[in-house]
Amino acid sequence: MSTRYARHEHHEFLAASAEALADASLQLALVQLGDTLGQRNREAFAALPDADALRQRARAIKDAALANLDEHLETLHSSVERQGGHVYYAGDAADARQIVLDILRMRGAQRVVKSKSMTSEEIHLNAALAAEQIEAVETDFGEYIIQVAGERPSHLVAPAIHLRTPQVAELLSRDAGKSLPADAEELAAYARRRLRAEFARADAGITGANFLVAETGTLVLVSNEGNIRLTTSLPRIHIAIAGIEKVIPRLADVPVFLKVLARAATGQKLSIYTSLVTGPRRPGELDGPEEFHLVLLDNGRSRILAGPLRESLFCIRCGACLNACPIFRNVGGHAYGGVYAGPIGAVLTPLYDGLAANEHLPHASSLCGACQAACPVKIAIPEMLIQLREQLHHEPGKLGFAESLAYRLWSVVMRHPSLYRGATWLATRLGRLLLRSSGGDEPRWLRRLPGGLHGWTASRDFPAPARQRFRDQWSPSEISTRSPSSSKPAEDRTPHEAG
Ligand code: SF4
Repeated sequence: MSTRYARHEHHEFLAASAEALADASLQLALVQLGDTLGQRNREAFAALPDADALRQRARAIKDAALANLDEHLETLHSSVERQGGHVYYAGDAADARQIVLDILRMRGAQRVVKSKSMTSEEIHLNAALAAEQIEAVETDFGEYIIQVAGERPSHLVAPAIHLRTPQVAELLSRDAGKSLPADAEELAAYARRRLRAEFARADAGITGANFLVAETGTLVLVSNEGNIRLTTSLPRIHIAIAGIEKVIPRLADVPVFLKVLARAATGQKLSIYTSLVTGPRRPGELDGPEEFHLVLLDNGRSRILAGPLRESLFCIRCGACLNACPIFRNVGGHAYGGVYAGPIGAVLTPLYDGLAANEHLPHASSLCGACQAACPVKIAIPEMLIQLREQLHHEPGKLGFAESLAYRLWSVVMRHPSLYRGATWLATRLGRLLLRSSGGDEPRWLRRLPGGLHGWTASRDFPAPARQRFRDQWSPSEISTRSPSSSKPAEDRTPHEAG
């Protein structure tokens, strides 16, 4: 892992984001994000008739599937076994790693090829495989780049989005032992040649799953590269690792998700490769693995399902909320510290990894709602972030003395009109004093706030309090002395006065 990002894990969001903002190369890479993926998402949904109904349908399927998750998991289990596969339940990441290692060890597997899987990132599988001297090679181009770089993905669907072509050329030149040109096509051609050899000699292929169809035991995998087909068909063993929330009841539900997933992720009508894998190779078939193993991961999902933020389990990992988010587009994925970045990561990481250890993440949002608007299953991310902020404030010791005192004072003032009148009178006087001392452009903005409030004005001005309280402006005596012609021109009003 690059030392630059290795320092920032979980709770150091503020330091990591400040570093990301000062990283000129990262900023150049991120500029493309909103202009490409974000724009394509909006155009694709705008061109789709009944897009809203389709998104609502996808959401309803997820909601209903989670409401009867236990039944669907049982059906899935039977279906996979009926097709000749094996099913395992992993309570947490350690269980999942152990199951995978046991399968590989018992079959003497030494070399593994992997397709892109956030679930395998979540359980830190590569480190566990390396510790057991099992060689694992990522075969998605973006994942391969960051494996060579020793980093982790910075985006759900574009894991190396934080790197620009010259940086990729430098990394892959090191990997190749010779200089490669900074040309995307040439670099992809190098990776293709390099990875073909890995597919041919791998003992096992490890994938995630976009969806698991309960009624048929089918694994649905979508990608834009051919690597998943090779990972699931060339090695003699196929292991899939998926969160339990990936289950959907019927095969007939799949097209609904394929339509919204591709549009939300990349703006395509359909991803280039959609693979439906149902069990291992059957007698008489030429392709496919001899064994198929499905590892179903809980790792906190049952707990989340029973709580107020269960909607976070609707996520189909399309990355659209990341592309739409003004925070993500400025700081990138590594600043978030966890495996999942962006708005949904700001919800998932505290849920999986603990709220106290990730206290800044629910605040890493302007609550503008762009994430929810972009989400193909309409997850109410802003509301969930507010709920997490509220939970955080109930955690012992998380609300500082000054903040706690401020809220208590606010509560008293709001309940007593005479105190409220006094406080607003005082605010107008203090505002005038601050305006004089801050060097702001009279009468609209404060350039600097004093003491502990200075953070507000570190990178922007603060609207000055009105020179006159609202109740004074609208008192009968004040109104009677005003004529329409004596009203102040709009440019003389403070932002509050201008409404
Ligand atoms: S929260 Fe919605 S937009 Fe974000 S990754 Fe999940 S499904 Fe996509």
